[in-house]
Amino acid sequence: MKKYKVSEECIGCRACAEVAGDNFEINDNNIAYLKMQPGNEDEEAKCEEAMDICPVEAISVYKNEETDLPDAIVAGSNIKATLDKHPELKQVLINLSPMFKRMQNPALYNTLARFANFNDAAKVTGLSVCEILHTLNHQLGTESKLLKIMPECIKITHDEIEDESTEITWKESPELYIYNNNTIEDLVEKTSILSPQENIVIISTEKPDELLKVANGLNFNFNIEKNREYRVSIFNPAEKEELLPWKERKEDFEVLDVRKMTTDPFDVILKKAYSTEDDNGFVLVQRFEPHPMINMLSEMDFEHMTEQKAATEFWIYFHKKVSKIDDSDTSTTKVNAVIQSATPVAYPVIMRLLQSDKIRKHINIKELKVW
Ligand code: SF4
Repeated sequence: MKKYKVSEECIGCRACAEVAGDNFEINDNNIAYLKMQPGNEDEEAKCEEAMDICPVEAISVYKNEETDLPDAIVAGSNIKATLDKHPELKQVLINLSPMFKRMQNPALYNTLARFANFNDAAKVTGLSVCEILHTLNHQLGTESKLLKIMPECIKITHDEIEDESTEITWKESPELYIYNNNTIEDLVEKTSILSPQENIVIISTEKPDELLKVANGLNFNFNIEKNREYRVSIFNPAEKEELLPWKERKEDFEVLDVRKMTTDPFDVILKKAYSTEDDNGFVLVQRFEPHPMINMLSEMDFEHMTEQKAATEFWIYFHKKVSKIDDSDTSTTKVNAVIQSATPVAYPVIMRLLQSDKIRKHINIKELKVW
Protein backbone atom coordinates (compact mmCIF):
# COMPACT_ATOMS: atom_id res chain seq x y z
CA MET A 1 0.00 0.00 0.00
CA LYS A 2 1.39 3.44 -0.93
CA LYS A 3 2.05 6.05 1.73
CA TYR A 4 1.29 9.69 1.02
CA LYS A 5 2.53 13.01 2.33
CA VAL A 6 1.57 16.68 1.98
CA SER A 7 4.24 19.30 1.43
CA GLU A 8 4.40 22.94 2.55
CA GLU A 9 3.14 23.95 -0.90
CA CYS A 10 -0.43 23.19 0.22
CA ILE A 11 -2.75 26.20 -0.18
CA GLY A 12 -5.62 24.68 1.81
CA CYS A 13 -8.10 24.46 -1.07
CA ARG A 14 -9.68 21.39 0.61
CA ALA A 15 -9.98 19.45 -2.66
CA CYS A 16 -8.13 16.43 -1.27
CA ALA A 17 -10.37 16.30 1.81
CA GLU A 18 -13.42 16.38 -0.44
CA VAL A 19 -12.17 13.49 -2.54
CA ALA A 20 -10.51 11.36 0.15
CA GLY A 21 -12.08 12.52 3.40
CA ASP A 22 -11.12 9.34 5.25
CA ASN A 23 -7.46 10.07 4.68
CA PHE A 24 -6.98 13.83 4.28
CA GLU A 25 -8.09 16.54 6.67
CA ILE A 26 -7.47 20.29 6.94
CA ASN A 27 -5.85 21.48 10.19
CA ASP A 28 -6.46 24.71 12.14
CA ASN A 29 -3.82 26.47 10.04
CA ASN A 30 -5.76 25.58 6.88
CA ILE A 31 -3.17 23.09 5.68
CA ALA A 32 -3.98 19.55 4.61
CA TYR A 33 -2.49 16.60 6.44
CA LEU A 34 -2.77 12.82 6.31
CA LYS A 35 -5.37 11.93 8.91
CA MET A 36 -4.69 8.30 8.10
CA GLN A 37 -2.63 6.50 5.49
CA PRO A 38 -4.78 4.41 3.13
CA GLY A 39 -5.62 1.00 4.58
CA ASN A 40 -7.27 -0.60 1.53
CA GLU A 41 -7.40 -0.33 -2.24
CA ASP A 42 -10.45 1.88 -2.27
CA GLU A 43 -8.78 4.45 0.01
CA GLU A 44 -5.58 4.22 -1.99
CA ALA A 45 -7.50 4.97 -5.19
CA LYS A 46 -9.07 8.03 -3.55
CA CYS A 47 -5.68 9.23 -2.37
CA GLU A 48 -4.38 8.87 -5.93
CA GLU A 49 -7.29 10.97 -7.14
CA ALA A 50 -6.56 13.60 -4.46
CA MET A 51 -2.93 13.67 -5.60
CA ASP A 52 -4.05 14.16 -9.21
CA ILE A 53 -6.43 17.03 -8.51
CA CYS A 54 -4.21 18.93 -6.05
CA PRO A 55 -3.72 22.27 -7.87
CA VAL A 56 -0.23 22.86 -6.50
CA GLU A 57 1.07 19.27 -6.53
CA ALA A 58 1.50 19.31 -2.78
CA ILE A 59 0.62 15.61 -2.42
CA SER A 60 3.21 12.96 -3.18
CA VAL A 61 4.02 9.34 -2.38
CA TYR A 62 6.88 8.19 -0.20
CA LYS A 63 9.23 6.43 -2.62
CA ASN A 64 11.34 4.35 -0.29
CA GLU A 65 10.10 3.61 3.22
CA GLU A 66 13.56 3.15 4.64
CA THR A 67 15.10 6.34 3.33
CA ASP A 68 12.22 8.61 2.34
CA LEU A 69 9.90 8.28 5.35
CA PRO A 70 10.59 10.44 8.41
CA ASP A 71 12.10 8.82 11.49
CA ALA A 72 9.65 6.94 13.67
CA ILE A 73 8.38 8.76 16.74
CA VAL A 74 9.41 6.85 19.84
CA ALA A 75 8.66 7.08 23.56
CA GLY A 76 11.69 9.28 24.14
CA SER A 77 10.95 11.69 21.28
CA ASN A 78 10.68 15.26 22.48
CA ILE A 79 7.11 16.53 22.11
CA LYS A 80 7.92 20.08 20.97
CA ALA A 81 10.57 18.99 18.47
CA THR A 82 8.15 16.42 17.06
CA LEU A 83 5.24 18.83 16.76
CA ASP A 84 7.42 21.59 15.29
CA LYS A 85 8.40 19.10 12.59
CA HIS A 86 4.92 17.62 12.12
CA PRO A 87 2.41 20.30 13.21
CA GLU A 88 -0.47 18.24 11.86
CA LEU A 89 0.08 15.80 14.73
CA LYS A 90 -1.22 18.33 17.29
CA GLN A 91 -4.77 17.67 16.18
CA VAL A 92 -4.14 13.93 16.17
CA LEU A 93 -3.02 14.12 19.80
CA ILE A 94 -6.02 16.24 20.77
CA ASN A 95 -8.27 13.65 19.17
CA LEU A 96 -6.59 11.05 21.39
CA SER A 97 -7.03 12.99 24.63
CA PRO A 98 -8.43 16.47 25.38
CA MET A 99 -5.53 16.90 27.82
CA PHE A 100 -3.34 17.53 24.80
CA LYS A 101 -5.27 20.79 24.29
CA ARG A 102 -2.69 22.25 26.68
CA MET A 103 -0.33 22.24 23.71
CA GLN A 104 -2.45 25.06 22.26
CA ASN A 105 -1.35 27.28 25.13
CA PRO A 106 1.87 28.95 23.86
CA ALA A 107 3.34 29.21 27.37
CA LEU A 108 2.90 25.50 28.03
CA TYR A 109 3.99 24.58 24.55
CA ASN A 110 7.26 26.46 25.00
CA THR A 111 7.95 25.10 28.48
CA LEU A 112 6.26 21.78 29.12
CA ALA A 113 6.43 20.40 25.60
CA ARG A 114 10.02 21.54 25.34
CA PHE A 115 11.13 19.21 28.09
CA ALA A 116 8.59 16.40 27.88
CA ASN A 117 8.60 13.28 25.77
CA PHE A 118 5.80 10.92 24.80
CA ASN A 119 6.47 8.67 27.75
CA ASP A 120 5.69 11.66 29.99
CA ALA A 121 2.61 12.43 27.91
CA ALA A 122 1.35 8.89 28.44
CA LYS A 123 1.67 9.22 32.23
CA VAL A 124 -0.10 12.58 32.32
CA THR A 125 -2.96 11.63 30.02
CA GLY A 126 -3.43 8.08 31.28
CA LEU A 127 -3.10 6.73 27.74
CA SER A 128 -0.73 3.88 27.03
CA VAL A 129 2.47 4.99 25.38
CA CYS A 130 1.90 2.28 22.76
CA GLU A 131 -1.43 3.80 21.81
CA ILE A 132 0.12 7.27 21.39
CA LEU A 133 3.07 5.99 19.36
CA HIS A 134 0.96 3.69 17.26
CA THR A 135 -1.44 6.52 16.38
CA LEU A 136 1.28 9.07 15.59
CA ASN A 137 3.41 6.70 13.54
CA HIS A 138 0.37 5.39 11.71
CA GLN A 139 -0.36 8.98 10.78
CA LEU A 140 3.15 9.45 9.41
CA GLY A 141 3.30 6.03 7.80
CA THR A 142 6.24 5.06 10.00
CA GLU A 143 4.64 2.22 11.94
CA SER A 144 6.92 -0.43 10.47
CA LYS A 145 9.95 1.59 11.54
CA LEU A 146 8.46 1.94 15.01
CA LEU A 147 7.88 -1.80 15.36
CA LYS A 148 11.60 -2.45 14.88
CA ILE A 149 12.62 -0.23 17.79
CA MET A 150 9.61 -0.06 20.07
CA PRO A 151 10.62 -2.63 22.73
CA GLU A 152 13.53 -0.47 23.89
CA CYS A 153 11.65 2.82 23.59
CA ILE A 154 8.85 2.01 25.98
CA LYS A 155 11.22 1.21 28.82
CA ILE A 156 12.18 4.88 29.31
CA THR A 157 10.88 6.04 32.70
CA HIS A 158 11.17 8.94 35.11
CA ASP A 159 13.58 7.09 37.36
CA GLU A 160 16.50 9.03 35.93
CA ILE A 161 14.86 12.31 36.93
CA GLU A 162 14.14 11.15 40.48
CA ASP A 163 17.80 10.24 40.81
CA GLU A 164 18.61 13.94 40.40
CA SER A 165 16.76 14.90 43.60
CA THR A 166 19.18 16.84 45.83
CA GLU A 167 19.38 17.92 49.49
CA ILE A 168 17.61 21.19 50.25
CA THR A 169 20.36 23.80 50.64
CA TRP A 170 18.16 26.81 49.90
CA LYS A 171 15.92 28.82 52.21
CA GLU A 172 12.45 27.69 51.25
CA SER A 173 9.62 30.10 50.59
CA PRO A 174 6.92 29.84 53.29
CA GLU A 175 4.17 29.55 50.67
CA LEU A 176 2.99 26.10 49.68
CA TYR A 177 1.24 25.43 46.38
CA ILE A 178 -1.15 22.56 45.78
CA TYR A 179 -0.59 20.72 42.53
CA ASN A 180 -3.66 19.28 40.83
CA ASN A 181 -5.42 19.36 37.47
CA ASN A 182 -6.73 22.86 38.14
CA THR A 183 -3.41 24.39 39.12
CA ILE A 184 -1.02 22.57 36.84
CA GLU A 185 -0.82 25.23 34.11
CA ASP A 186 -0.30 27.99 36.62
CA LEU A 187 2.39 26.08 38.51
CA VAL A 188 4.25 25.03 35.38
CA GLU A 189 4.41 28.68 34.38
CA LYS A 190 5.43 29.80 37.90
CA THR A 191 8.20 27.21 37.91
CA SER A 192 9.46 28.05 34.45
CA ILE A 193 9.88 31.74 35.33
CA LEU A 194 11.55 31.29 38.73
CA SER A 195 14.10 34.07 39.08
CA PRO A 196 17.67 33.33 40.17
CA GLN A 197 17.79 32.19 43.83
CA GLU A 198 13.98 31.87 43.97
CA ASN A 199 12.22 28.65 44.88
CA ILE A 200 8.76 27.14 44.92
CA VAL A 201 7.38 24.40 47.16
CA ILE A 202 4.59 22.15 45.93
CA ILE A 203 2.44 19.49 47.57
CA SER A 204 0.78 16.89 45.39
CA THR A 205 -1.00 13.59 45.79
CA GLU A 206 0.37 12.49 42.39
CA LYS A 207 4.01 12.75 41.37
CA PRO A 208 4.17 16.13 39.56
CA ASP A 209 5.97 14.77 36.50
CA GLU A 210 5.38 17.87 34.42
CA LEU A 211 7.01 20.19 36.95
CA LEU A 212 9.96 17.86 37.42
CA LYS A 213 10.49 17.76 33.69
CA VAL A 214 10.47 21.54 33.46
CA ALA A 215 12.80 21.87 36.47
CA ASN A 216 15.14 19.29 35.00
CA GLY A 217 15.14 20.95 31.61
CA LEU A 218 15.96 24.36 33.09
CA ASN A 219 18.76 22.89 35.24
CA PHE A 220 17.01 23.86 38.48
CA ASN A 221 17.80 21.98 41.70
CA PHE A 222 14.96 20.06 43.23
CA ASN A 223 14.16 17.83 46.14
CA ILE A 224 11.39 15.23 46.22
CA GLU A 225 10.03 13.69 49.39
CA LYS A 226 7.33 11.04 49.34
CA ASN A 227 5.33 10.46 52.49
CA ARG A 228 1.54 10.41 52.34
CA GLU A 229 1.90 12.84 49.48
CA TYR A 230 4.68 14.28 47.36
CA ARG A 231 6.50 17.38 48.56
CA VAL A 232 8.64 18.97 45.86
CA SER A 233 10.93 21.92 46.41
CA ILE A 234 12.37 23.50 43.25
CA PHE A 235 15.15 26.08 43.30
CA ASN A 236 16.77 28.17 40.56
CA PRO A 237 20.49 28.12 41.47
CA ALA A 238 21.54 30.84 39.00
CA GLU A 239 23.30 33.82 40.55
CA LYS A 240 21.30 37.03 40.94
CA GLU A 241 22.34 39.90 38.70
CA GLU A 242 23.24 43.13 40.45
CA LEU A 243 20.40 45.61 39.91
CA LEU A 244 21.01 49.21 38.94
CA PRO A 245 19.87 51.91 41.41
CA TRP A 246 16.10 52.31 41.11
CA LYS A 247 16.24 55.77 39.55
CA GLU A 248 18.23 54.32 36.65
CA ARG A 249 15.58 51.70 35.94
CA LYS A 250 12.48 53.73 36.74
CA GLU A 251 11.58 53.94 33.05
CA ASP A 252 10.93 50.17 33.18
CA PHE A 253 8.30 50.54 35.92
CA GLU A 254 4.71 49.78 35.03
CA VAL A 255 2.70 52.91 34.24
CA LEU A 256 -0.60 53.54 36.02
CA ASP A 257 -2.30 56.44 34.27
CA VAL A 258 -5.36 57.51 36.28
CA ARG A 259 -6.03 60.83 34.50
CA LYS A 260 -9.09 59.56 32.66
CA MET A 261 -10.62 57.66 35.56
CA THR A 262 -14.07 58.93 36.42
CA THR A 263 -14.04 57.43 39.92
CA ASP A 264 -11.63 57.97 42.79
CA PRO A 265 -8.46 56.01 41.87
CA PHE A 266 -7.54 55.51 45.53
CA ASP A 267 -8.25 51.77 45.63
CA VAL A 268 -6.55 51.14 42.28
CA ILE A 269 -3.39 52.91 43.41
CA LEU A 270 -3.35 51.21 46.81
CA LYS A 271 -3.88 47.81 45.25
CA LYS A 272 -1.00 48.48 42.86
CA ALA A 273 1.19 49.58 45.75
CA TYR A 274 0.26 46.54 47.79
CA SER A 275 1.13 44.14 44.97
CA THR A 276 4.47 45.84 44.21
CA GLU A 277 7.42 43.77 45.31
CA ASP A 278 10.43 45.05 47.21
CA ASP A 279 12.95 47.02 45.16
CA ASN A 280 10.38 47.39 42.39
CA GLY A 281 8.06 50.21 41.53
CA PHE A 282 5.38 51.77 39.40
CA VAL A 283 4.67 55.15 37.83
CA LEU A 284 1.53 57.04 38.71
CA VAL A 285 0.43 59.52 36.04
CA GLN A 286 -1.93 62.15 37.38
CA ARG A 287 -3.09 65.69 36.46
CA PHE A 288 -1.55 67.06 39.68
CA GLU A 289 1.00 66.01 42.24
CA PRO A 290 -1.05 63.94 44.74
CA HIS A 291 0.63 64.85 48.04
CA PRO A 292 -1.79 62.91 50.31
CA MET A 293 -1.20 59.73 48.28
CA ILE A 294 2.57 60.30 48.31
CA ASN A 295 2.44 60.62 52.10
CA MET A 296 0.36 57.46 52.41
CA LEU A 297 2.71 55.44 50.25
CA SER A 298 5.77 56.74 52.06
CA GLU A 299 4.31 55.08 55.16
CA MET A 300 4.22 51.86 53.18
CA ASP A 301 7.99 52.16 52.54
CA PHE A 302 7.73 53.81 49.14
CA GLU A 303 10.13 56.54 48.09
CA HIS A 304 9.28 58.69 45.10
CA MET A 305 10.39 61.26 42.58
CA THR A 306 8.11 63.50 40.53
CA GLU A 307 8.56 64.72 36.97
CA GLN A 308 6.20 67.32 35.55
CA LYS A 309 5.89 66.56 31.83
CA ALA A 310 3.22 69.19 31.04
CA ALA A 311 0.98 71.67 32.84
CA THR A 312 -1.45 68.91 33.86
CA GLU A 313 0.72 65.84 33.51
CA PHE A 314 2.71 64.65 36.51
CA TRP A 315 4.68 61.41 36.52
CA ILE A 316 5.29 60.16 40.06
CA TYR A 317 7.79 57.31 40.18
CA PHE A 318 7.23 55.14 43.27
CA HIS A 319 9.90 52.72 44.42
CA LYS A 320 9.36 50.21 47.23
CA LYS A 321 12.33 49.94 49.56
CA VAL A 322 13.62 46.51 50.50
CA SER A 323 11.47 45.22 53.36
CA LYS A 324 12.95 44.70 56.81
CA ILE A 325 10.23 42.23 57.78
CA ASP A 326 11.44 39.65 60.28
CA ASP A 327 11.06 36.36 58.43
CA SER A 328 12.03 34.09 61.27
CA ASP A 329 8.38 33.08 61.55
CA THR A 330 7.97 30.04 59.33
CA SER A 331 4.21 30.17 58.87
CA THR A 332 3.37 28.40 55.67
CA THR A 333 0.02 29.83 54.65
CA LYS A 334 -1.43 33.27 54.03
CA VAL A 335 -5.09 33.98 54.56
CA ASN A 336 -6.82 35.52 51.54
CA ALA A 337 -8.81 38.67 52.34
CA VAL A 338 -11.22 40.81 50.36
CA ILE A 339 -11.63 44.40 51.54
CA GLN A 340 -14.58 46.37 50.27
CA SER A 341 -15.87 49.62 51.64
CA ALA A 342 -18.64 51.92 50.49
CA THR A 343 -17.26 54.84 52.45
CA PRO A 344 -13.91 56.65 52.51
CA VAL A 345 -14.23 56.60 56.31
CA ALA A 346 -12.50 53.20 56.06
CA TYR A 347 -9.32 54.73 54.54
CA PRO A 348 -7.44 55.04 57.86
CA VAL A 349 -8.30 51.45 58.82
CA ILE A 350 -7.16 50.15 55.46
CA MET A 351 -3.97 52.14 55.76
CA ARG A 352 -3.31 50.60 59.17
CA LEU A 353 -3.76 47.14 57.66
CA LEU A 354 -1.45 47.85 54.76
CA GLN A 355 1.24 49.37 56.94
CA SER A 356 1.39 46.49 59.37
CA ASP A 357 4.28 44.15 58.58
CA LYS A 358 2.70 41.43 60.71
CA ILE A 359 -0.62 41.62 58.90
CA ARG A 360 1.00 41.77 55.47
CA LYS A 361 2.98 38.69 56.32
CA HIS A 362 -0.12 36.65 57.13
CA ILE A 363 -2.81 38.13 54.89
CA ASN A 364 -2.94 38.16 51.13
CA ILE A 365 -5.31 40.90 49.95
CA LYS A 366 -7.03 39.37 46.94
CA GLU A 367 -9.31 42.32 46.29
CA LEU A 368 -9.28 45.89 47.52
CA LYS A 369 -12.19 48.10 46.57
CA VAL A 370 -13.19 51.41 48.10
CA TRP A 371 -15.85 53.55 46.49
S1 SF4 B 1 -5.66 19.56 -2.65
FE1 SF4 B 1 -3.54 20.15 -2.39
S2 SF4 B 1 -3.59 22.33 -1.99
FE2 SF4 B 1 -5.66 21.59 -1.77
S3 SF4 B 1 -5.81 21.20 0.43
FE3 SF4 B 1 -5.23 19.28 -0.51
S4 SF4 B 1 -3.01 19.27 -0.42
FE4 SF4 B 1 -3.65 21.34 -0.04
